[in-house]
Amino acid sequence: MTDDSFSRRSRTVQALGRIDETTRAVVPPIHVATTYIRDPDNAYSSGYVYGRPDNATIREAEDVLAMLEEAHGGAMLFGSGMAAATAVFRALDPGDHVVAPKVMYWALRHWLAGEATRWGLRIDFVATEDPDALRAAVIPGETKLVWVESPANPLWSVTDIAQAAGIAHQAGARLAVDSTCASPVHTRPLTLGADIVMHAATKILNGHSDVVAGALAFAGQDVFTDRVAGIRKGEGAILGPFEAYLLIRGMRTLHLRAERQAASALALAERLQAHPDVAQVLYPGLPDHPGHATAARQMEHGFGFMLSIRVRGGAAAAIATAAQMRLWKRATSLGGVESLIEHRASIEGEGTPCPDDLLRLSTGIEDESDLFTDLDRALRAAHA
Ligand code: PLP
Repeated sequence: MTDDSFSRRSRTVQALGRIDETTRAVVPPIHVATTYIRDPDNAYSSGYVYGRPDNATIREAEDVLAMLEEAHGGAMLFGSGMAAATAVFRALDPGDHVVAPKVMYWALRHWLAGEATRWGLRIDFVATEDPDALRAAVIPGETKLVWVESPANPLWSVTDIAQAAGIAHQAGARLAVDSTCASPVHTRPLTLGADIVMHAATKILNGHSDVVAGALAFAGQDVFTDRVAGIRKGEGAILGPFEAYLLIRGMRTLHLRAERQAASALALAERLQAHPDVAQVLYPGLPDHPGHATAARQMEHGFGFMLSIRVRGGAAAAIATAAQMRLWKRATSLGGVESLIEHRASIEGEGTPCPDDLLRLSTGIEDESDLFTDLDRALRAAHA
């Protein structure tokens, strides 16, 4: 094991320094077994019983993530980001009040407004980036969960996590943060007072657009974390071991990728602000973004890999721009090493706060000047 006096970056690069004790291999094997042999006295001294509750490769990946997030309550991996997020809401009781953001990952908002509401949660969608709106929305004794996303899809609204934690806790609620687009490199919500961090590990944690995975990390362990673990076990939502191995492999380069991607995103945001065919650039690293001051306080090593642009000429011009890209891939998702561009309103459902002239950009690690040249050419072609 890598000595924990070393930085989180060093320990992540070595995936905590675990080796295979039998062969001394520097990469531990992938544990594929679904079941385990009992001891002669009928016990399970290894701690493993069956593959649905847990698995050694999953635990390895969870330990890396828990270290990255400074999660004293540990981490849990799921088969997708949605499986991780919905397990948190499913651990509440019907009738509980929940506050969620107006600007958030659209599929989760859709699930909350549909399934979760049908199941009995009372959900208010508010501008969580506005502390007064958040304060007014929580109901002391009734609100059991405040959910925020920061920076939030696709406008990159920034919620002050420390302030949100104070407001949630005063009302007797937990604070959960979807930190997918910050990654633990830029923000560690548990150190700011959050109770739960959620990641679509599908995104920058894995980083190679080849794994669908989700994660939760907890400030501490209590009846709520037990309930979430019970839901994962009971509903069979655990990640597969091969995906966990790929995730470990991806996380080993997380710091390099996240810092490079954030530097490119900032450079692109600055250059695009001066572009004649761009009406607005949304990026928390720009001083004119409404969340910049908060982001500067709670993010480090950059402002993340996601930005959006509003294209002059409306939806038709935005779609035409995406269609002209040669280097940027025209696809949904985010956080991979390859840069992706998407006309977001084409995918988001009813009630989206996403303007129809918005293109969402996930910055990868290609040559920054190639990324700008491709965008510039596409914008000009679409406006010719
Ligand atoms: N949260 C955010 C911010 C996301 O971008 C996504 C997916 O795009 C999710 C959650 C859901 O993750 P998954 O697609 O792994 O279920």
